[in-house]
Amino acid sequence: MSADLNRIRHEVEHRRTFAIISHPDAGKTTLTEKLLLFSGAIQQAGTVKGKKTGKFATSDWMDIEKQRGISVASSVMQFEYKDHTVNLLDTPGHQDFSEDTYRVLTAVDSGLMVIDAAKGVETQTIKLLDVCRLRHTPIVTFMNKCDREVRDSLDLLDEVESVLKINCAPITWPIGMGRSFKGVYHLLRDEVFLFEAGGEKINLDVEIIKGLDNPRLDELFADEAAQLRMDIELVKGASHEFDLKEFLAGRLTPVFFGSAINNFGVREILDALIDWAPAPASRDATVREVVPTEEKFSGFIFKIQANMDPKHRDRIAFLRVCSGQFERGMKMKHLRLNRDMAANSVVTFMSHDREIIEEAFAGDIIGIPNHGNIQIGDTFSEGEQLAFTGIPFFAPELFRVARIKNPLKIKQLQKGLQQLGEEGAVQVFKPLNGGDMVLGAVGVLQFEVVAHRLMSEYGVDCVFESPSTNIARWVSCENKVKLAEFEKSQVNNLAEDAAGNLTYLANHRVNLDIMRERHPDIVFHETREHA
Ligand code: GDP
Repeated sequence: MSADLNRIRHEVEHRRTFAIISHPDAGKTTLTEKLLLFSGAIQQAGTVKGKKTGKFATSDWMDIEKQRGISVASSVMQFEYKDHTVNLLDTPGHQDFSEDTYRVLTAVDSGLMVIDAAKGVETQTIKLLDVCRLRHTPIVTFMNKCDREVRDSLDLLDEVESVLKINCAPITWPIGMGRSFKGVYHLLRDEVFLFEAGGEKINLDVEIIKGLDNPRLDELFADEAAQLRMDIELVKGASHEFDLKEFLAGRLTPVFFGSAINNFGVREILDALIDWAPAPASRDATVREVVPTEEKFSGFIFKIQANMDPKHRDRIAFLRVCSGQFERGMKMKHLRLNRDMAANSVVTFMSHDREIIEEAFAGDIIGIPNHGNIQIGDTFSEGEQLAFTGIPFFAPELFRVARIKNPLKIKQLQKGLQQLGEEGAVQVFKPLNGGDMVLGAVGVLQFEVVAHRLMSEYGVDCVFESPSTNIARWVSCENKVKLAEFEKSQVNNLAEDAAGNLTYLANHRVNLDIMRERHPDIVFHETREHA
C-alpha cells in the first residue's frame, strides 16, 4: 500500500462526523460550547456564538461573514479530541429551520441528540429523528439540565422509545435532580461521578466512587444510597443493555444524563463518540459504492448558504468529503456541469483561527464559494463520472404563492423561482393547469430568503400569499397507463417541481387519504432524491 493510502486510511479511521440535534432551548449551544471546551479547542466557555454571549469561537468565519455578509458561524466546527478529528455539524432550528437542517443529517455518520430532561421529547427532535431513522444513523442521547427539577428518568426513556422508536441503553443514571442532584452512576464502569456545579472552565478533579456497594456512598448520601441501589437494579431490569451493533444499526441509543451548563457529563459524550460512533462509511453513488479510503477525492453538496447581502451574489456550498484526499489547489470536477474547478479558495470550518484549507479527508466538510452554479446534491470528483445518491428533498409543510407587484416582471419571477428551486433554497411547483407557481418550504425563513433574493438578484418585488395547498407528495406508479389516467383525472391537483417531477398538491390530508384509496397503484412519496 502506498504511503498516501496509509495516510488516508489513518485519517479516515480517526474521524468522527456528527450532527447535534435538539429542539430549541434544550441546550444545544451550551453543549456545543462545552464539547469545544473539553476538546481544548477553546479555553473558556462563552465564546461560541450564542444568543446569550454574542461572541464567536469560529473566528475564521467572522471575516468571511464581514466580507460577504454570510451568517455561517458555528454551523460546522472541527476540533481534535484524543487523536481524532471531530466534525460537529449544527442543525439550525428556531427561525432558521429549513430543508438544509434535514439535509445536514445526510452529511453525517452519527447524531448527538440533546433532550431537555424537564420537557422530554419535543417536536423538532421528532422531525429530525425521523430523518435519522430513514438512514439508520447511530444516535447518542444526552439528557440535559439534570440540575433542574426534571421528569422521572424511566419515563424519559419510555418516551424516547415510544415516540422516537429507538431503544434506550442508559449508560449513566442520575442520582437525584434539581437542588438534590448528586451526580450520576456509570452502569458500565460501576462508578459514581459526583456532581459539582461547574462554570466556564473544566473542573478536572470530579470525585469518582468505585462500586455501587462502596460505603463512601452511604457516608456521602445516607438518605439516597439505598434508593440508588434499588433504582439501578430496576433500571437494569427495565432497560436495554448497550450493544454496539444495535447502536451502529441505529436501533439503540446510549443515554447519558448530565448538565451541559455545569460541564457535567460532557466528557462521557465525547468519549462515546470517539469509542462507539462510526468513522466515515462507504456511500452509494450511481455506478458504484464509494469507499472513504479510496485514493481519489470525491464528495457531494448538502447545503448552500446564500448571501443575504445584495452587493455580493456569492454563496457557500457545503461539501461533505466522501473519499480520498482533498488538497488545496487541486482540480476538482463539477460533474453536473462537466467543468473543472480550481479549488484555491475553498475554506474549512475550524474552531480556531484558520480559513483557507490545506487538506481534507472523508468526513470533513469544506466550503466552496460560488456564484450560483452549484446545487444541492451536486457531486465533485477528480474526474470519474459518478453521482452520490440519497440526498433527499422533503415534502414541504408550508406553502405560499408569489404575487408580483409589476406584472411585466412575470418572466423574471419565473426564472428566479426556477433557479432558486433548482438550487434547493425553496421548492417550486408549477401546476399542470397553468395556475400560479406554488412555493413549498419546511421553515418559514425560507420564504423570506426567497423574497429577498428575488428582489436583489432578479429585481422582482413580490408579496407572498397563502394558497389553499397544505400537502404535497411526489407521485410515481409502475403502471404507465394507470399513471396517465391519474394525471388526466387530477390535472387540477397536479404540478411539476423544479426538476420536473410530478407532484400531487392537496388542501387537506383527507384529500390525500381519499386519493390513496381511489388510486391504490399510485405511490405518494414524502421525500424524493436529488435527480
Ligand atoms: P439551544 O437553543 O438548544 O441552543 O439552547 P441553549 O444552549 O441556548 O440553552 C437554552 C437555555 O438553557 C439557556 O438559558 C442555557 O443557559 C440553559 N441551559 C443549558 N444547559 C443547561 C443545564 O445543564 N442546566 C440548566 N439549568 N440550564 C441549562
